[in-house]
Amino acid sequence: MLSRLSPQELASLYDESREKMPPQEREEWLDQRLAEQVKFAYENAPAIREKFDKAGVSPHEIGTLRDLEKLPVTTKDELVRLQQANPPFGGFLAVPLNSLRRIYVSPGPIYDAWGPERVKAQLRAYLRAGYPRPGDVVLVSLAYHMVPAGLFLTDVMDLMGCTVVPAGTGQSELQVKLLHDLQATALLSFPSFTMSVLKKAEEMGYDVRRDFNLRYVVGGGERHGQILKKTFQEQYGLIVGDGYGTADAGPVAYDCGLGQGYHYDDEVCVIEIVDPETGKQVSPLQVGEVVVTLFSHVYPLVRFGTGDLAAYTDEVCSCGRTSPRITKILGMIGEHIRVKGMFVHLRELDEAMSKFPQVSKYQMVLGLEEHRDRITLNLEVEPGVDRQALSEAIVRRCQDVFKLRMDKIEFLAEGTLPEDYEKFVDRRWSQG
Ligand SMILES: [Zn+2]
Repeated sequence: MLSRLSPQELASLYDESREKMPPQEREEWLDQRLAEQVKFAYENAPAIREKFDKAGVSPHEIGTLRDLEKLPVTTKDELVRLQQANPPFGGFLAVPLNSLRRIYVSPGPIYDAWGPERVKAQLRAYLRAGYPRPGDVVLVSLAYHMVPAGLFLTDVMDLMGCTVVPAGTGQSELQVKLLHDLQATALLSFPSFTMSVLKKAEEMGYDVRRDFNLRYVVGGGERHGQILKKTFQEQYGLIVGDGYGTADAGPVAYDCGLGQGYHYDDEVCVIEIVDPETGKQVSPLQVGEVVVTLFSHVYPLVRFGTGDLAAYTDEVCSCGRTSPRITKILGMIGEHIRVKGMFVHLRELDEAMSKFPQVSKYQMVLGLEEHRDRITLNLEVEPGVDRQALSEAIVRRCQDVFKLRMDKIEFLAEGTLPEDYEKFVDRRWSQG
């Protein structure tokens, strides 16, 4: 449990005037810090040194954001491989392992180094939004084991001075009771789970506006968050917080409260949107991969490709902040996919299915049903297989390997899937 910060300490965390610097001044400020950061990373993180040396680039050559293009992007898949070849952090850690406050483990598996700098970044996001506030009773309905979710936000809420209910995931009926009995003011959860809890409350005969004290929920972290955000605001009168981050890089962009996309968080990182093929920065409103360079003295990732596709705008926002904004997260590239708030790596799907030689082809199809992610696993199998028994075994196996339940197993006629079929098919965009 972390000590609560005083109002003065909270206020000192966040300087709005810095976020409203004239664009030219902002650029110089970033360039100067970037030059220092890449030197630090080169000297302290062996994997970063290797990345520079392999590319034949000296850290002295990186003086501006544009100079970053001289370096290759490290993809999430490469990060997984590098960590596995040289565990635990693949040479990206700049401090002794036991100086870390938290090591989270994301599906991959991938190790994530988290500490006070990320907690403070998230705390600043809440301070900007104005919610949750000191004195709020907050239900943290996110996973508490392995991944940076429940425990991370508990750390943040501790500093803020909130009362935390570590509710975890599932048991929506109990969550409704907690919301009601404790008169919780904020619910931190994935939007689809928040929706399930609100629906459950109505089923149980509650009127959310009348019987609860709920003011604040979260809208980010899932693809169809935007649809739910509207519902939360319009139907339930809730304030919806939003932001963008990844398990590897932490919180890196925030919604200023106007819902105009995610401002780059200049305090914690430099963001580039790049063409995934060439690694070159794209123009505003063009689609590219979100690539992050962290101002971190702990885990100084340089040009880390998040795998998320997005577009950005550099028009000054009506809030007055001058950092560019990610206008929308548009999808994912690479060999992993985010579903039900979790990452599944293609290798994990392959590993799960390797136990079933009677399955000749398998394909995971992601769709939406109402507001929830729905996973269908398409299979082509040998003739004469006991489909019921196989389905049950596969559902169990998938749950063991990547902690997700398949909603439906579909048996396809042999030859339905072409030779060059995709193992992941995402239909959630076209549906929503
Ligand atoms: Zn803004």
